[in-house]
Order: sequence, then C-alpha cells, then structure tokens
Amino acid sequence: MSLLVVGSIALDSVFTPFGETADALGGSAVYFSVAGSILNPVQVVGVVGSDYPIAELDRLAPRGIDWSGVERADGESFRWKGKYSYDLQSRETLETRLGVFAAFRPKLPQAFRDARFLFLGNIDPELQLEVLSQVRRPEIVVCDTMNYWIQSKRDDLLKLLARVDMLMVNDSEARELSGDWNIHRAGRWILERGPKQVVIKQGEYGALLIEKGRTFHIPAYPLEEVFDPTGAGDAFAGGFMGYLARSNAVDTQHMRRAMVYGSTMGSYSVSGFGVRGFEGVTTEDVEQRVRQFVDLTNVPIAEPAP
Ligand code: AMP
Repeated sequence: MSLLVVGSIALDSVFTPFGETADALGGSAVYFSVAGSILNPVQVVGVVGSDYPIAELDRLAPRGIDWSGVERADGESFRWKGKYSYDLQSRETLETRLGVFAAFRPKLPQAFRDARFLFLGNIDPELQLEVLSQVRRPEIVVCDTMNYWIQSKRDDLLKLLARVDMLMVNDSEARELSGDWNIHRAGRWILERGPKQVVIKQGEYGALLIEKGRTFHIPAYPLEEVFDPTGAGDAFAGGFMGYLARSNAVDTQHMRRAMVYGSTMGSYSVSGFGVRGFEGVTTEDVEQRVRQFVDLTNVPIAEPAP
C-alpha cells in the first residue's frame, strides 16, 4: 500500500555526551523513510537547498525510498542544531534555520496523490495542510509537530488537528500543546480537537496509544547503549506507518501491533549517530526484535481463587 511522508530533510548538528555530528543527514522525513522503508516502500515530499549532499539521499534510495517528490531549490538547506543533557532525557534546540523551507510550496507529483497512508511529519503546519489537500482519498492521516510550531503556528496547527485521524507527538509536546502537565488529560484534550487517536511518545519509557475511553502502552526496547536520541520519534512513526501500510489495515488491533514496530524502529535509531543505527538492519532483524516484545509485555495474571 502506498505510504507518503512530507517532512523536513535537514542537515543536523547534534551534541550528546558521547559525541557530536556536524551537518549530518537528518530531518523528520529522512528518519521516517529510513525506518518505514524496511517494512513498506515510502514516497517522500520535501525540499533541499543547493548545498545538500544529494548523493547521500540517492544512496538510501535502493532501500525503497522514492525521492522524486523532493524539490531542489536555490538556497540553504534546512539546518537544526541541538544539544542533549547527560542522561539524554532532555535536549535544547540551539538553532533552527528554515532555509529553503521558508518559501517552500509543496506540489505533489500525480503519482503521489493517490497515497493511502499519509504521514505529515514535523514541518510548518501550513505546509502539512497544503499536502493534505492534495492527497485524494487517504485511508489514514497521521501528523506530528514540535514545540517550534506549537509556539509559532498554533492556529494552523489546531486547524490541522481537526482534519487528521491521529496526532503522534512526544510527551513534552502534548503537554505544551494542551497546557496540561498530566499526560492522560493532555491526550483527552487532543482527542477533543479532532483526532480519533493520539500517540504520545515517552522516550525510554515507551509510548501510549490513547483513544476515547481506552489507553494502550508499549515499552521501549531495553537497550544498554544509547548514543543519539535524535529522530527516534520519526523512526517510531516510520515503523508504525510502515507496518499499517504493509498490512493495509487501520483497526485497533493492527495499531497496537504497529506500536511494537514503532518502538522497534525507535530502538535502532538511538543506537547510532544520525541514521547510522539503521545500517545493515534487515526486515528479519526487525521481526526478531518485534517478537521479543511478546515476552517483554506478557503478564500472566492469575485467575482469582474460586
Ligand atoms: P525528533 O528527535 O524525532 O524530534 O526529530 C528530530 C529531527 O527533526 C531532526 O533531524 C531535525 O532536523 C528535525 N527538526 C528539528 N526542528 C524542526 C522543525 N522546527 N521543523 C521540522 N523539522 C525539525
């Protein structure tokens, strides 16, 4: 089934206690598609500047990523700079330079307009809305966002929320958007604005799938080495949407399984700098890690004594 993502295609400079990168391949659409394409082909919409190392994107194409919806514009590429705390739990954005994204007007190739599974990755909500209006009959629309857009484009974001099936954000974004510190109340606040489901990612504590009157939780895969949390959320989304597209299903049971694929992809993402955690990862590796969640989450609750 066709899976389409729009999002940032960035050059990231990241500082963690374990090392740093400068102008490395990153951005929400890149992490999403590197993870998602392990399960299902991915079509990408976005823009890069004249300084972008296109060869690096081309190198990823054989994995099943179609970059034909990526425009090459004159100017500087999107750049993001971030620094993580010692425990990798929080990060500070040092710099966001929109570059060619500031003037970007997405125009989907005809072949992309029939996409059935649509992920509106972290990007200006106005652009997310423009992409949404060009896709004819999506089966499911999921969107992400970030503090940067919650602060600067709140009205557009609320307009977008009313038109999507699911919002997928991390816990601090859910708190900031709703203005409520309690994650479950924040989830309900979001549901009241349009989406039927909300996924709230909680880093090393896993992720929640919240629906009206029902909540499901999946842990993070237990890792002893974590190097770079950047992009884990987008990789989670790639695994989640890749699984749904591969299964051609959007019911609750498949969504719960998709949470496991999301958590699995997040674990590969954090185990290397940039997208390097995915090098050499095969579908079979993913399936094997997914199976480990059965034991990780199995609770043999005893029947009450008669
Ligand atoms: P995550 O760690 O999942 O939140 O995603 C981090 C990725 O998002 C990095 O690769 C950045 O290039 C990208 N990013 C950071 N800020 C923004 C923004 N304001 N809009 C779009 N993408 C962003």
